[in-house]
Amino acid sequence: MSGAGAHGEAAGAAPCPAPRCRGPAGGRGARPGPGGAARVTEAACCRGEGARALSLRGVQALLKNIHCLRVCFFVLFQLDFKRVFLIIFRLEIRGFLFRYSPDKGPFCPAQPHRTALYEDPPAACWPIVYSPDYNITFVGLEKLHPFDAGKWGKVINFLKEEKLIADDLIVQAREATDEDLLVVHTRRYLNKLKWSFVVATITEIPPVAFLPNFVVQRKVLRPLRTQTGGTIMAGKLAVDRGWAINVGGGFHHCSSDKGGGFCAYADITLAIKFLFERVQGVSKATIIDLDAHQGNGHERDFMDDHRVYIMDVYNRYIYPGDGFAKRAIKRKVELEWGTEDTEYLQKVHTHVEGALNELKPDIIVYNAGTDILDGDPLGGLAVSPQGIVKRDEVVFKAARRRRIPILMVTSGGYQKRTARIIADSILNLHSLGLIDKELAASGAGNPKVEQMIRDSAQDFSNLSLQ
Ligand SMILES: [Zn+2]
Repeated sequence: MSGAGAHGEAAGAAPCPAPRCRGPAGGRGARPGPGGAARVTEAACCRGEGARALSLRGVQALLKNIHCLRVCFFVLFQLDFKRVFLIIFRLEIRGFLFRYSPDKGPFCPAQPHRTALYEDPPAACWPIVYSPDYNITFVGLEKLHPFDAGKWGKVINFLKEEKLIADDLIVQAREATDEDLLVVHTRRYLNKLKWSFVVATITEIPPVAFLPNFVVQRKVLRPLRTQTGGTIMAGKLAVDRGWAINVGGGFHHCSSDKGGGFCAYADITLAIKFLFERVQGVSKATIIDLDAHQGNGHERDFMDDHRVYIMDVYNRYIYPGDGFAKRAIKRKVELEWGTEDTEYLQKVHTHVEGALNELKPDIIVYNAGTDILDGDPLGGLAVSPQGIVKRDEVVFKAARRRRIPILMVTSGGYQKRTARIIADSILNLHSLGLIDKELAASGAGNPKVEQMIRDSAQDFSNLSLQ
């Protein structure tokens, strides 16, 4: 090699002559030779190899180091040798025990914990995750929040009425344990949830503050933990089957150490981190957040994580208005009050295509909030029920055409008619062949998917609503 040479050293520096040496020539010990070029010897460049060629200068340096060591030992003896020795001994013992801990295995301190959330469900099941435990019911408590706290069960009932699914064909969600939650959350945050007034603030239901915490845990937090478990389970299912829907979840205001806006657990962050840690081949994720509110929770969690691309479309004037979190958004679409179908769908289409063309992820997490619906008291947008159905279609088509696994969570949506719209959207995705029980991740060989891929070239022209 010429020029920079095999070591990547500065131009003009001679390469180190030692075999196997990877150290930069011209580093410590290099002395400028005649003409300014660095002249490097083995002794100067390579510690091990150079031992054979110790020069007088090297011997002098060694004697100097020995003198330093003698001074250090002298100081240690003067201070309290016994105490210093004991500290070092204890540190060594602790390090040894940590490395050989039976839970972690030898020299594997970062091995993931055991979880029930990644157990394979029966192959006959649809990748639709739900549990009756999702629904919050407690002596009318749920009526104190504008949220329809039983919407998840209603979605399932509509799908059953339409004969799309049956109870034994749904994947039963499991509650996320403390160990599962600690993959993202801090212990400090989980401890804070043991105070009822903290949960009352997060869920925006003031009377919760006056309930004993064991009631709050069972009646409010357990449903949210089960939905969180559902999102984590759906993440793996999406990778295995090409798509998955958690009928709940989408708590996009919660980050690792802060909840808010009815979001107590960071299910989106958890699902992505579980995939990164446990599923080979998943190292890039795209979050498409189309809830009416900004998803500041996952944005804070993935602030400096270049593996995660975040696209967020939201009403610019409403909660949370988190300026710091906005720095994590790669594709930000801020909407005005009362944005309607045509403008909304055009923006969603353009930016979903743009985001997926910019980076092809291994998984898409689609936060499909329905609080964009016209008349929603919190969302402030004016999209029709048909507009929401079309929006989900646009996102699924973009994912399926690129053969990227997609996980959908239902997130916000605060009106009584929301459940019917979510069910209609799932039925529409099925009728178009975008979701099916047999749909493999690649879609290869599935005539419905191949047809859909051919048809999707006309996506944009199909955006006008009937
Ligand atoms: Zn929302």
